[in-house]
Amino acid sequence: MLHESDLKKYQRCDKYYWYTKNKPESVPFLPYVTYNMDIFELVKDYFGFEDVFMGKRGDDPSLTLQAYQSFDILMNARISYRDLRMTLPCLKKEDQHHTLYFLYNQCYPKTSEAQRIADTLWVCKKNQIQVDEVLLIHINANYERKQEFDVHECLLISDEFYNEKNKKAGKVMDFVREAYRDLDALLDEIEQIGDLSHIQKKRSPACTSHYKCEYFSMCFPDQQHNTSILNLVQSNKKYECEAMGISDMAMVTGDEIEATRVQYAQIMAAKKRGLFVDQFALRPWLKRIQYPITYLDFEWQTYVYPPYEKMKPFDVLVFQYSMHIEDKNGELVHEQYIGKNDCREEFVLDLIHKIPKTGSIMVFNAQGAEVLRLMQLSKQFPQYEEELRNIWERMIDLAIPFSNGVIYDERMAGEYNLKKLLSLFSDLSYDELEINQGLLAVKKYRELEGNESEEIKQALYEYCGMDTYAEYVLLHFLMKTVGYE
Ligand code: SF4
Repeated sequence: MLHESDLKKYQRCDKYYWYTKNKPESVPFLPYVTYNMDIFELVKDYFGFEDVFMGKRGDDPSLTLQAYQSFDILMNARISYRDLRMTLPCLKKEDQHHTLYFLYNQCYPKTSEAQRIADTLWVCKKNQIQVDEVLLIHINANYERKQEFDVHECLLISDEFYNEKNKKAGKVMDFVREAYRDLDALLDEIEQIGDLSHIQKKRSPACTSHYKCEYFSMCFPDQQHNTSILNLVQSNKKYECEAMGISDMAMVTGDEIEATRVQYAQIMAAKKRGLFVDQFALRPWLKRIQYPITYLDFEWQTYVYPPYEKMKPFDVLVFQYSMHIEDKNGELVHEQYIGKNDCREEFVLDLIHKIPKTGSIMVFNAQGAEVLRLMQLSKQFPQYEEELRNIWERMIDLAIPFSNGVIYDERMAGEYNLKKLLSLFSDLSYDELEINQGLLAVKKYRELEGNESEEIKQALYEYCGMDTYAEYVLLHFLMKTVGYE
């Protein structure tokens, strides 16, 4: 049986499709966001629907065809053609006019959705299901929740798509007409697909654009070495280099690539077969750091729908922090916090109370995370803006020397996340921890919200505490590198 997502996978890469069918990924899927409301229930509330045929996963498509005769509203209903199953998110029949709504747990449905809609219309036609109009229902990015959640303010009905910059891109049906196709040929192709396990594919943007394909190491085991030219960052020219026979960064002479600062660091580290350090850049960066040094890290979860007052769609709620505080004698003190439910104000007060009033605050990826979190909290609780501003203005981003080519170790292989750096520059590792990555922390936190588990709380403390200790270890590694210790 084929699902609509299989068509997308096949068109991304036939081998990728084959892997998903034959070698299901062993790493469990952890969602980035918390879907805290059911969009079908929201749409029912929005329209005041009462008599609805509500389909579910695994339904026989014949149920939808029967319901099509007797219901005016069909939601989440399965239809099929040959081996392919599609879903009608919400079909409303009104005075001979049939409107098919596509529902999105997101603010900006993109033009890339046109293909799915076109394919759904094609399967509708094969099932003699009439569709006169297609509309999108999505989340209003500007909605700010008051005390009560307002579905009419939160959802929007639209006939337009958005582009990658979240700007209006044009009418849905214009894109859908362009994407409309006869699926028979594609279904024939997919049916005939054989065993692709031994097919050697050429590496393409599909393998790494947006995110690295989960089957990458199976497809390209020989491209996993640290200094592979394909690990060169910010480079469109790496594929040309590979085609010219430049397989390792150490073989680059300079003219073949864009030659950004990070690329220079990568190539120098590859040629040295070790560590590259730009001492003239690292020393002044380290000189800015003042004692007491606070090493800070937050954990948070992102809610699709605002659960509390003054929150907007996709706002985050910070539920935990860890801070290690180092005085100028090298003494280290640890503070931590975990809250539950709407703990925003309690979090702010606890943080303001415990964080030193002076000195530098080291944070890994501060600008993209902790700074934004504090700015958001200062908007929701303007009475604490001054204290919060004092905190974010003292933050120094520990990721910067690693991300901009001030320091690069050939073993980084184009990556510079905290866990990787810790494992390279110390004997410590996250592997032994029960929680060893951020999304798992969020999953465990959701469990903690449902019950008072001391065990989960402890695992969360250990994980977040490890992050701030890792920051301490990394900063001291940098200091040692330039001879400050
Ligand atoms: S790594 Fe590339 S070739 Fe291999 S399955 Fe993924 S997308 Fe296809």
